Amino acid sequence: MGVDLGSTTAKAVIVDSGGRMVASRVVQMGAVSREGVRVAIEACLEDARLTPADISRTISTGYGRRLVPSADKTFTEITCHARGAAALSPGVRLVIDIGGQDSKAIAVDDDGLVDRFALNDRCASGTGRFFDVLCRALEVDLDEVAALALAGGTDLEVSSMCATFAETEVISLLAQGAETADISASVHRAVAGRTLGLIAQVGKASPVVMTGGVAKNPALVAFLEEALGLPLEVLDDPQIAGALGAALIARDEHAAALADAAAALADAAAAPLRFVAVADVGPEKQVIPGNAVTAPHCADCDGHLDSHSHRPVSVILQLGPVGR
Ligand code: ADP
Repeated sequence: MGVDLGSTTAKAVIVDSGGRMVASRVVQMGAVSREGVRVAIEACLEDARLTPADISRTISTGYGRRLVPSADKTFTEITCHARGAAALSPGVRLVIDIGGQDSKAIAVDDDGLVDRFALNDRCASGTGRFFDVLCRALEVDLDEVAALALAGGTDLEVSSMCATFAETEVISLLAQGAETADISASVHRAVAGRTLGLIAQVGKASPVVMTGGVAKNPALVAFLEEALGLPLEVLDDPQIAGALGAALIARDEHAAALADAAAALADAAAAPLRFVAVADVGPEKQVIPGNAVTAPHCADCDGHLDSHSHRPVSVILQLGPVGR
């Protein structure tokens, strides 16, 4: 199982031993919460008709990854988003992930592994939070804000990239009589520009896949494609890419542990057994190593062990692989 506990949503994905996705869940939270992650995991298990005992390994990722009680290990979102995106879109070279509170550009190599990456600053500039703030200021929902942006024309200056100050700026533009469509378009354009800055740090590459909740915003995708000059592939469910990557890493680790155990068993089964006979012959103990037990031999009595004062002869067999 892979669990991605983000800043606004908890995601859980279950894959089978072949790496095929069996179930996935996205649960909206108010803020990072253990309750959100519990609900996502339970719902995912229920969808897959499994119990926690059926899950051989769990990897957590995301902003709140250390708060996932069932996790055997944690991985960064960079690794997990790259892994999930590469699984969903083989051959991807650039992953743009924009979530609720952060955004990243990840260059991926031929093997789907992270080559380079760049993260946004500590503030929520150019992230989902920015659009949530815009929705609040314009009193519309996410779908409407995207539709407005696609209808907007005039480019208004939105200078602030801090979500808090941007809200003030949007309110000020509204007060000046600016069209909501133009305001929304300008904010989307500004975020696309910010994202382009991140991409420049890792190098423009193609094909490009977008992950994270903001990939569900068609206006941002359109503005970003325009700014980048490249088409973006948006995954069917872009929010689960990180949890899927975590689940695939958990599957790999479990498969590797099983393979190690199977190899150790095969070694043990293939190794010749060593028989060691320890004969208590007189005062000295004779150790007779070899693959067959030989009867202990006493030179004094030429094999007639009970013809003089021997103690009873005992033979101890030690069975086990050679060298152990
Ligand atoms: P995190 O992992 O940090 O919790 P997500 O990847 O779940 O973040 O993305 C959350 C963000 O995605 C929200 O802040 C919101 O702006 C954006 N988002 C979610 N659903 C949609 C949607 N249907 N349309 C546009 N934006 C969306």
